[in-house]
Amino acid sequence: MQWSVSIGVVKGTVIRVHLTFLLFLVWIGVSHYAQGGADAAVQGVAFILLLFACVLLHEFGHVFAARRYGIQTPDITLLPIGGVAQLERVPEKPAEELVVALAGPAVNVVIALGLALALGGLPSMDAGTQVQNPGVSLLGRLAWVNISLVLFNLIPAFPMDGGRVLRALLAYRLGYARATRIAAGVGQVVAFGLGLAGLFGNPVLIFIALFVYMGASSEASAIDLRERSRPFTVSDAGVTRFETLSPSSTVEDAVEHLLRTSQHDFPVVDGAGRMRGVVTRDDMIRALRERGPDTPVLDVMRRDVPVLGEGQPLEEALRIMQAGALPAIGIVDADGKLLGLVTPENVGELMMVQAARPQQPTPSGRPPTSVPPANPWARGTA
Ligand SMILES: [Zn+2]
Repeated sequence: MQWSVSIGVVKGTVIRVHLTFLLFLVWIGVSHYAQGGADAAVQGVAFILLLFACVLLHEFGHVFAARRYGIQTPDITLLPIGGVAQLERVPEKPAEELVVALAGPAVNVVIALGLALALGGLPSMDAGTQVQNPGVSLLGRLAWVNISLVLFNLIPAFPMDGGRVLRALLAYRLGYARATRIAAGVGQVVAFGLGLAGLFGNPVLIFIALFVYMGASSEASAIDLRERSRPFTVSDAGVTRFETLSPSSTVEDAVEHLLRTSQHDFPVVDGAGRMRGVVTRDDMIRALRERGPDTPVLDVMRRDVPVLGEGQPLEEALRIMQAGALPAIGIVDADGKLLGLVTPENVGELMMVQAARPQQPTPSGRPPTSVPPANPWARGTA
């Protein structure tokens, strides 16, 4: 995520703080200072930091649950509206998704119970309704905040955890695709209700409604894309006419290709026809500015671009591209020679063409298969 700074690494997961979150802390500090001086400012900022420590622990609940199923999480980003854990893929079985989704709120239940025990019982509702009032005990307010985190996250709408719980429960009976569509529909209805409540009540709800609406829509369109890509192989969607660079090319050569063609990303192909990496437009512009036109492309290319065999399902390519935010995937023959490239633009074009065509058998005639869910999921918490 852009505009965020890393503040540490825990077991392979980088913790990032978005700059808007730092601004938010400054705003909390200043507004409390204006009301009650330095003491109030320290109290206010301390409370927000503790609150976000709970949000972070919530995200780590998801992270460690996902790790049990072999799913890594490269990073967690803290935003003023909550935390976002970027899982490299969605758990494939409903039971796994259920466990991963519930693990976050479960952490807040444990924190709330722990605080209630330490305080000798749950503090009065006052602490819950006056979370910003420094007159009410800090730990009491924190207990209530954790309870509201649980309730908020269990709203049955993407990208909230409750949306994933709902989909997992539906998927046991209806299959993944239908379950996603229904859960996304429920999410949009919930978003509409929240927005309406926001118009007549707390305006923050309008903001949350937008967030929920967009989450539900992107989840629905991701599943839609995967469904529609299912009959195709990578060869159906691949670009087969493209310019390449050689391992001895320089950034200047790459720039020339960029200006001469409509291509943005150029594979670097060695004498044996194998792809060594891909130079993207952003890579070459950055290299041109920072390192000069004579820099070898080998020094600036992305080496992590995977390749798939020509008969492989397109869906697999989409899964890999979405998980790694990759510019392209190589298509290779049995000897590892580069035959083509799958890029997001090309997949988009294939889908547009398919949507415009009357119903026809698919080019490769692959029967639809049952499909493991896969795309990075971002989730938010209050
Ligand atoms: Zn969560």
